[in-house]
Amino acid sequence: MKRTKSHAKETPKRKSGCLWLFLMIAVIIFLLVTNKNFQKNLDYFMRGEADVGAFFSDIQVSYQTHLTYPDFTMPVSGSITSAFGERINPLSNQPEHHTGIDIDISSDNQVKAAAGGVVSKIGVDERFGNYVILSHSGNFFTCYSHLESVSVTEGTSVSKNDFIGIAGESGITTGEYLHFEIRKGEKRMNPMLFLPQ
Ligand SMILES: [Zn+2]
Repeated sequence: MKRTKSHAKETPKRKSGCLWLFLMIAVIIFLLVTNKNFQKNLDYFMRGEADVGAFFSDIQVSYQTHLTYPDFTMPVSGSITSAFGERINPLSNQPEHHTGIDIDISSDNQVKAAAGGVVSKIGVDERFGNYVILSHSGNFFTCYSHLESVSVTEGTSVSKNDFIGIAGESGITTGEYLHFEIRKGEKRMNPMLFLPQ
């Protein structure tokens, strides 16, 4: 009797598990077949002309192109001096996850809003120095750190490319640069997936 009882309990769980799996597979197939870039690379892949990395990066691109996100632009015009992701911290020499990108400001230190939004927070942090956080549509946020000065106030609206402050080296830095983050809710995303290439 006991066995029958526990079996009866498990069945609905298993059914809903199967449904989720089916839905996930359906979504993945939809993303793959509707992305032209993926189809092109699948061709190369089948002919042995593409590597596995390209194959999986296309799955990521496919996912991104089906998300709606603000039309982001670079907040300053310099080159990227440190990428998002795993790196050796230049000050502590310890491995860490770099939560944004660092952008050179030697020829342009005028920080612009990467997209239209609202100034949701201005603060001072021991590590990140003077910072500004803008909120955007779709629960996206951009964060600008190590600023020398801030030219906006909390609660005000900004348009894309509006001047929001001067980049500098406040907080803990190895020099003058802009540390820039794009967040979806609480999650720090790789900004390069959203910025124009
Ligand atoms: Zn950084």
